[in-house]
Amino acid sequence: MLKDMRVLAVFMILLLVTVSAPYEFGHASQVILLVVDGGDPDVFSLEGFSIEGSSTAVFPPMTSPGHISLLTGVYPSRHGILANEYNDEQKTRNYTPDMIEATILFEILKENGKKGIFISGKKGLAALAGARANLTVAPEFHPVYLRDPPQDPEELTRWLFEALTEIDLREHPDFFCINIPIVDSVGHTYGPSSQECKEAAQLVEDLIYSLRDSLDSETALIVTSDHGMSSVSKSVPIHALLRDAGYATWPLHVGRCAFLYDVEEGVREYVSSLEGVDRVVEPEEYSAFHINHRNAPDLILLAKKGYLFIPEPLLQYYKGMHGSPDEQDVPLYMTGAGIPTGYVECSQVDITPLVVELLGLETDVKFDGSVPQIQEKKAQGYGILVVAGVVFYIIGRRLWG
Ligand SMILES: [Zn+2]
Repeated sequence: MLKDMRVLAVFMILLLVTVSAPYEFGHASQVILLVVDGGDPDVFSLEGFSIEGSSTAVFPPMTSPGHISLLTGVYPSRHGILANEYNDEQKTRNYTPDMIEATILFEILKENGKKGIFISGKKGLAALAGARANLTVAPEFHPVYLRDPPQDPEELTRWLFEALTEIDLREHPDFFCINIPIVDSVGHTYGPSSQECKEAAQLVEDLIYSLRDSLDSETALIVTSDHGMSSVSKSVPIHALLRDAGYATWPLHVGRCAFLYDVEEGVREYVSSLEGVDRVVEPEEYSAFHINHRNAPDLILLAKKGYLFIPEPLLQYYKGMHGSPDEQDVPLYMTGAGIPTGYVECSQVDITPLVVELLGLETDVKFDGSVPQIQEKKAQGYGILVVAGVVFYIIGRRLWG
């Protein structure tokens, strides 16, 4: 009898070790990467997903660098999209797809004979991030079988989810990336803590729940954001300030950070003393920010809480902004095929390696990120501890009691 109990004890220990071993991602035939633009974790959240966690957006936390890192698995230092716009001899220009210096997930999919589709409520983003997809959809350009996109932002949000479902039925892609802009645009106009922003987040959450409930068993759904959002009420009109102080140093406004070009003698001291400037980031620190690229600015300024870099007359249009390390925390939820139960803390550059793993793609690309480690959800961890305690108590009593 005693011997039987020892065998049982060993068996139970092995079982517990197995149960509490790290969970692994499995396989999915299709992955939907849904990006809630500006979905700050204080505003946007979901319940009942297998994996709940958090992710760190790349710096600066802006739509274009964020999406390109989500879709390349590398930092801005390697893909070269350092902000939403760039400075070209004192002119602000839009990045073009040929300026993306890294292999984008859509290319890896094609090499593997798979199909990727990019859907975005933002035309500029669709043109940039979706340029190498099999199909790129925005309200301004969409397949004829979709109804005409409505003007109203809430109706347009519904249209984007409809587009996903309709396109899935007709095109059967292996991968979707879809950008939903309403939480970002409402967050900018009314601020992230406004009732308007809460309602926009609620609408998106409800549409995601409906999408999740309609998924087939072969599809994995990953929900995250490109960046967060902070409340702002004061401006640092850095362009006017530099000009009025007699400097020719040229700034590019990147929301809650500013890029400075052609920095002259004395500018460092001048800008670091300005109201609303939290700190000056020197080029030596760029590698820590993963923005050490040949096109990086000469200096970067970070705004204090409540401030953004913007001309004074434009301040009235903004109650929310992003672009500083304060907006790098973003939510992360996953469910469906190949997704175990657990908690994940990762970086935006880990998402492409994860999609590659889930879809079983072959690639030689060296990502900056890697497949995220899955930890136990806290509640799960406690549950296993309780089970272990009870089992050991029973075994102990039988053996020695
Ligand atoms: Zn934004």
